[in-house]
Amino acid sequence: MEIAITGVFGAMMGSFLNVVSFRLPRHESIVRPASHCTSCGARVRPYDNIPVLSWLLLRGHCRSCAAPISPRYPIGEAITAALCVAVVLARSSVSGIALGIALVLIVVPAATIDFTDLIIPNVLMAIGAVLALAIGTALDPAGEPERLIAGVAAAAALLAVVMAYPRGMGMGDVKLAGVMGLFLGIAVIPAIVIAVVSGSLVGAVVMARKGVSAGRKTALPFGVFLAFGAVVAIFAGHPLINWYSSQFLH
Ligand SMILES: [Zn+2]
Repeated sequence: MEIAITGVFGAMMGSFLNVVSFRLPRHESIVRPASHCTSCGARVRPYDNIPVLSWLLLRGHCRSCAAPISPRYPIGEAITAALCVAVVLARSSVSGIALGIALVLIVVPAATIDFTDLIIPNVLMAIGAVLALAIGTALDPAGEPERLIAGVAAAAALLAVVMAYPRGMGMGDVKLAGVMGLFLGIAVIPAIVIAVVSGSLVGAVVMARKGVSAGRKTALPFGVFLAFGAVVAIFAGHPLINWYSSQFLH
């Protein structure tokens, strides 16, 4: 039952985050106007606004003008729902579940907006920091010092990288890493390592396909890789730290 409720909640949040991800970089209001077709402007009726299902029933087309509706909307809803369900299945404590789901709901729009617009909005990072501090202090006050230190350290580490290589990342990445630390605590370390490794791999592939000079000019949205690292760390952060300690630290 919890799983079904979480899945529905995740899909509805995914639907809301689609609106956030589309409107936030355009400086449009999140609440008004109501959802409408971007081609003909027809208002999306409530029964056509059911996450994932409506897109499938309409076969990806507007009911009024038949213009195609991007599959990124149902995909965003399905991914958000699946991640929320996975957090509930993987984590046992209430604080762990609340911090995990809130982090998912922050990194999904951060990754989407960084991918489409190459920015990570400040307001999103501010909401993330407030959520992390509020949930952390309310449900797991004993763990708050660790998360505060992790947030400051993660932001400082990426700030050092931005100072050294101004073209690779931006201040949005610094803030996102800090917010991830406020949610993940020490598990932010494997999250950033995974982000750097996966970002470097994709960067190498881009250079191999486009040539080194053109590849260097291609802006990679590092926030997408940070978000990927955050999601892996939600599920495997502490096992990864234990594995690394047992292998390399004696
Ligand atoms: Zn339409």
